[in-house]
Amino acid sequence: MNILLVGAGLSGAVIGRRLAEAGHDITIVDGRDHIGGNCHTERDAETDVMVHVYGPHIFHTDDEEVWNYVNEFTTFMPYKNRVKTTSQGQVFSLPINLHTINQYYGKTMRPDEAREFIASIGDSSIEEPETFEEQALKFVGPDLYEAFFKGYTEKQWGCSPTELPASILKRLPVRFNYDDNYFFHKFQGMPENGYTPMIEAILKHDKITVKLNTWYTPEMGEGFDHVFWSGPLDGFFDYKLGRLGYRTLDFEKFTEQGDYQGCAVMNYGDRDVPFTRITEHKHFSPWEEHEGTVCYREFSRSCTPDDIPYYPIRMVDEKAMLADYVALAEESEGVTFVGRLGTYRYLDMDVTIREAMDTATMFLEHQENGSKMPAFAVSPQ
Ligand code: FAD
Ligand code: UDP
Repeated sequence: MNILLVGAGLSGAVIGRRLAEAGHDITIVDGRDHIGGNCHTERDAETDVMVHVYGPHIFHTDDEEVWNYVNEFTTFMPYKNRVKTTSQGQVFSLPINLHTINQYYGKTMRPDEAREFIASIGDSSIEEPETFEEQALKFVGPDLYEAFFKGYTEKQWGCSPTELPASILKRLPVRFNYDDNYFFHKFQGMPENGYTPMIEAILKHDKITVKLNTWYTPEMGEGFDHVFWSGPLDGFFDYKLGRLGYRTLDFEKFTEQGDYQGCAVMNYGDRDVPFTRITEHKHFSPWEEHEGTVCYREFSRSCTPDDIPYYPIRMVDEKAMLADYVALAEESEGVTFVGRLGTYRYLDMDVTIREAMDTATMFLEHQENGSKMPAFAVSPQ
């Protein structure tokens, strides 16, 4: 079969590879001038530091098959994400752990004491937290919420934490020990030469042709038996029902000599600091040495038609519109919507890869049975 994939990010690359290995002819188009989608990395011309162009990406997963898969295509170096935050004139460790709690309250509590203390300041009247704010007030109480989450979240999402779902905060643990690893997954690391060479290796197959600087047009789909779409779901339908809401990011780059902040990620919890965080990219490759350093201040704002969509908002309005787009997609023939933008969900890289592998397997099964491949392998709702 002749198959077109729109988007040369992880979704397009992994699906393309699987289907090419099964003998199909694969064409992948991407409007950008590089492969890799938002995982794209490149060396900074001035400092030679490996830069994560669309924001920092740390690989973390419990999925051993996915971990083995990425390790087939590149060498991963050990990397633990240890995030700091500047708030109220001090630097603290994240995610909230025993060090954070003891430092914030000027105490020397042991794990059980801290657990009891935090339980005593948490709002126990909230039984089932529905909003971000309720989740925070229940599990860390008002002081830590104000210091670390309220201002940051208002900047990141452009709205009050009372309007956001509790699920966003549930991504972050509260630890009653000194473990300051941001993630708790079994496998964590950073590709030695960045993500783009890894994705290039996935795409390196005789049956895969990649065309860059090529934005999809509907005529393009005509000579193909099936299309996999990893662009924005609403974009496929020319935004005819309106635009799904996204946050976008502005990166303000600056370079210095030496070590600017001593860590890869420094968050800023205070509302009056306009950016959410500063990332210093040479610390993402601690096995390399560079005299210069390159940093980015990260500003979050609402996404306009000319911006790159980063974070799906998925608030009530978006969910209603999403349901309408899903219905349209399900009526379409010969197209499957995949990935972060195609299914309008926040997906980490490992989940993107897992879903891409399963989507390809599903496609091959449908093809064998002569049945119709659905519009979504994983529902966006
Ligand atoms: P994308 O990478 O977005 O690729 C889609 C591609 O489609 C793009 O290259 C785009 O140019 C192309 N495209 C779109 N429309 C068209 C069109 N009409 N015609 C042609 N081409 C088109 N995950 C982690 O695991 N760890 C992290 O630390 C992490 N950090 C992140 C930080 C940020 C700021 C963001 C936004 C995401 C982060 N992620 C992280 C998630 C990660 O970026 C995604 O899992 C991954 O990029 C999803 O891959 P994808 O192929 O689905 O989408
Ligand atoms: N968050 C916060 N303060 C921080 C870090 C995170 O308030 O210092 C909130 C913020 O709303 C963010 C959410 O917790 O969207 C989840 O954090 P994560 O690190 O997963 O952020 P994301 O991947 O969304 O940038």
